[in-house]
Amino acid sequence: MPDLASQARELQLKFLLISFTDLFGIQRAKLVPASAIPAMARDGAGFAGFAAWLDLSPADGDVMAIPDPASLTPLPWQPEVGWVAAELVLAGTPMAQCPRRLLRTQLERAAALGYELRSGVEAEFFLLGADGAGVADPADHQEKPCYDQLALMRRYGLIGPLLEAMEGLGWGPYQADHEDANGQFEVNWTFAHALTTADRHAFFKVMVKTLAEQQGLKASFMAKPFAERTGNGCHTHLSLWGAPGTASAGTNLFHDPAGELGLSALAYQFLAGLLEHAPALCALTNPTVNSYRRLAAPPTTSGATWSPAGISYSGNNRTHMLRIPDDQRLELRLPDGSTHPYLLQAAILAAGLDGIERQLEPGPRRDNDNYARPLGPEVCPSLPADLGEALDAFDGDSHLRQALGEEFCQAYGRLRRRQWQRERGDISDAERRTSLDC
Ligand code: ADP
Ligand code: MG
Ligand code: MG
Ligand code: MG
Ligand code: MG
Repeated sequence: MPDLASQARELQLKFLLISFTDLFGIQRAKLVPASAIPAMARDGAGFAGFAAWLDLSPADGDVMAIPDPASLTPLPWQPEVGWVAAELVLAGTPMAQCPRRLLRTQLERAAALGYELRSGVEAEFFLLGADGAGVADPADHQEKPCYDQLALMRRYGLIGPLLEAMEGLGWGPYQADHEDANGQFEVNWTFAHALTTADRHAFFKVMVKTLAEQQGLKASFMAKPFAERTGNGCHTHLSLWGAPGTASAGTNLFHDPAGELGLSALAYQFLAGLLEHAPALCALTNPTVNSYRRLAAPPTTSGATWSPAGISYSGNNRTHMLRIPDDQRLELRLPDGSTHPYLLQAAILAAGLDGIERQLEPGPRRDNDNYARPLGPEVCPSLPADLGEALDAFDGDSHLRQALGEEFCQAYGRLRRRQWQRERGDISDAERRTSLDC
């Protein structure tokens, strides 16, 4: 991999956008002129960590964000600027609470066991008016709006350039559509190594939000902006491949023609890990207070929420938390749009590897329509009802915590717990409606 300065020269960049994603998934950056790139590539860009969502104090020294040259991505809409993902170092020590580093650590754990995670995400989003209050397109009001051709093509001015940009970056985009809620869209690109997918996921959110702003719109990945409409999922598709240098390098180890639905014992162990750790995983896959309005929600105006109500798996059936779409992969339907691009995959991998290491078994597949005839909690345990319950599960899941590292877990748990304490105190309109006259 050529160094940043020579890549920047090659691409004729005027600036680098040295970017890191904090614990709440917000991207923070410094814009660095080309002349300063060699020094920044070595020493990193400095940030006061407490000013972002990191578990630090204002008295702590500078957090240095060291850019990874492999992630350099010229902004398609501003090609003289190169976005680059960075990892955090404090006082010369890599930080355990750096989300991208955490993902790399889990990928290294996987590699030591002979595996490489490849993944794809479906990062759904709404296109709202600039103030975020409602859907931007007043004509987008079908009761079943999914795949609405006219509503999709009214956004051609945004979706067309978006697909072109992704094509230019070599992501392998293959479709875009109107999704199940009025104002909701999805753009799909091809799965890749999990770190590549996480970098693309982070960049995708910046790109969609920026291109939308340029058109006077607001793109939102919020889990459930409208109570009666389908929320933003971030379904994550997963397969483990032989790690480079091993005999099975380049082979999909989840595929086994002799296995149930064409999947291997390894895939079922990984799946069992996701089932076992689902309540704790929610703290990362469904990390906001609003996330729990999408899970176990009443049916939407379109007829279904498309989100899971409990912990179960099925074949090609979208009413369960885990779906087996084909004989190559698993789909985790739990995560929502507010999930963190790096923590999402780090947590999934930690849970799946635990299933493999402990050789967990997932129990029987469920083939019912889990919306029309939901399984009882004895066979389909409930998901956390709110962020507080998810954080309790996260606190109590010793296997997952050990895999992710106690230092990270404590830092993350502290910040989210504080957010939960603040937001649970909000008094809603519904409460006033039902309780004012008590
Ligand atoms: P859905 O049917 O759930 O709407 P999409 O086509 O929207 O599926 O998204 C599927 C995602 O799964 C894409 O990112 C795709 O590249 C990815 N995918 C396909 N095969 C695999 C695989 N073997 N491992 C991981 N991801 C995969
Ligand atoms: Mg200053
Ligand atoms: Mg999809
Ligand atoms: Mg979708
Ligand atoms: Mg899906």
